Amino acid sequence: MTADPISIAEARTTVLDATRPLDAVTVAVEEALGSVLAGEVRAASDVPPFACSAMDGYAVEVGPAGRTLEVVGESRAGAPSDHPVRSGQAIRVSTGAAIPTGTGGVIRQEDVEERADAIRTGTPTSASQNVRHAGEDMRAGTVVLTPGTMLGAAELGAAVSAGAGAVTVARRPRVAILCTGDELRAPGEPLGPGEIHNCNGPMLSSLAQRAGAQVAACQRLPDDPAITRSALASGLEQADLLVISGGVSVGPHDHVKPALSALGVEQLFWRVALQPGRPTWFGAREGKLVFGLPGNPVSAVVTFTLFVRPALQAMQGLVSRAQLISDGRLAVAVARSPHREQALRVWVQRRDGELTVTPNGPQASHLVTSLLGADALAFIPQGEGELPAGSAVALEELAD
Ligand code: AMP
Ligand code: MG
Repeated sequence: MTADPISIAEARTTVLDATRPLDAVTVAVEEALGSVLAGEVRAASDVPPFACSAMDGYAVEVGPAGRTLEVVGESRAGAPSDHPVRSGQAIRVSTGAAIPTGTGGVIRQEDVEERADAIRTGTPTSASQNVRHAGEDMRAGTVVLTPGTMLGAAELGAAVSAGAGAVTVARRPRVAILCTGDELRAPGEPLGPGEIHNCNGPMLSSLAQRAGAQVAACQRLPDDPAITRSALASGLEQADLLVISGGVSVGPHDHVKPALSALGVEQLFWRVALQPGRPTWFGAREGKLVFGLPGNPVSAVVTFTLFVRPALQAMQGLVSRAQLISDGRLAVAVARSPHREQALRVWVQRRDGELTVTPNGPQASHLVTSLLGADALAFIPQGEGELPAGSAVALEELAD
C-alpha cells in the first residue's frame, strides 16, 4: 500500500474490483421504476394478442370503392364481435378492437358514407389494410428486456405488455451517510459562531437515490473519536455502502480513518491525484464498501460521482452507463495542474455536431454555487501550462 495518490482510473478500478452484485428481489412493476433488471423479461404471449384494427371504421372484404355493404355487427375494444364478415357485409370496428374472422381489411370511417344499417365505400380496401397483426410488437417467447437494463417508463411499459406483473431486479443498495464536523448544523437551524449548514447530507442523499440506492441513514457526527466509531459501526451493520463526508484528512480532529481501522475496514486507497477530491478514502469489510469523501461540498459531489455512483451501479448490475457522454471540446483554455487530473464542472452545448464545454465559473471546492447549472465533469489531464481552447476532453454527466 503506497501513500502516493493514485489516478482516477486506478481508483475506479479498485472500487469496481471490490464491488459485488447484490441479490435479486421480485417487485411489482409499480414499484420498479429506476431498478435494474436481474433477469430476462420474455413475452408471455403475442403482443398484440390478436389481430386488431388500427382505425375506427369497418371490417370488410377486400374490394373496390363504390360497394354498398350491410352493417351486421360491431367489434369494440374489449368486446369482440363473434359475427364473421361475409360478402356484402361490414362490421363496425373501433381502434384496438379484434377484427372479425373473414375480414380482408378495415376501411376508415372517414372513407365511407354511413347510411341506415349500411355503408357505401368511398375507397378500395386492400388486404390487411389498417390491420395490426398478432405479435407485431412482440412474439410469444421472445426476450423483450435483458438483465442489466435500467427500468424507465418505456421498459416498464414493455414489461407489462409482455405480460409481467412483477419483475426480478437487483435489490436496491442500502446506503448510510454520515457527515462529520462539529461545525455542522441541520438544514434551517440557526448558526452559532463558526457554524455552517450541513449541505453535504441532503446532496449525498439525493445523489445516492439518483443512483438507485435506498438511504438507510443520513446523520451528522461531531468530531469525537468514540461517537465516530460507534456511528460507523452501526452504519456498517445497517448498510451495504457507507458514505462519510469530512474527517478524512490529516487534521487533529479527523477521526474517521482510525475509527475505520479499529472496526476492521481494510483501506484500499487513500488520496487520489484528483482536483477537487484528493483526500478520498476507500475501503471494504466483508463485501461492504466504505467511502470517506472530503468535506468540501464540491469535492464531495465530484468524488461521489466518480467513485460511489459507479459502485452503486455495479452493485445493481447496471450494464449501460448513460452518463458516459463521450468527448467534448473546450471552449476556452484551461490551466493544467502539474500533479493532479482536474474534474472541472462544465456546461455543455451542442454546436455544429460537437459538444462544446465551458467551465461553470470559479472552480474552488467550497463553492456550492459552482455546481448550479453544471451538466458534466470534464477531465483535464495533469500537465504543465494550459490545455488550449478546442482540445478534446472526456466528459461524464453529473446527476441532476
Ligand atoms: P474536512 O474534510 O472535514 O476537513 O472539511 C473540509 C471543509 O468542508 C471544511 O470547510 C468543512 O467545514 C466543510 N464541510 C465538511 N463537512 C461539510 C458538510 N457536511 N456540509 C458542508 N460543508 C462541510
Ligand atoms: Mg471536518
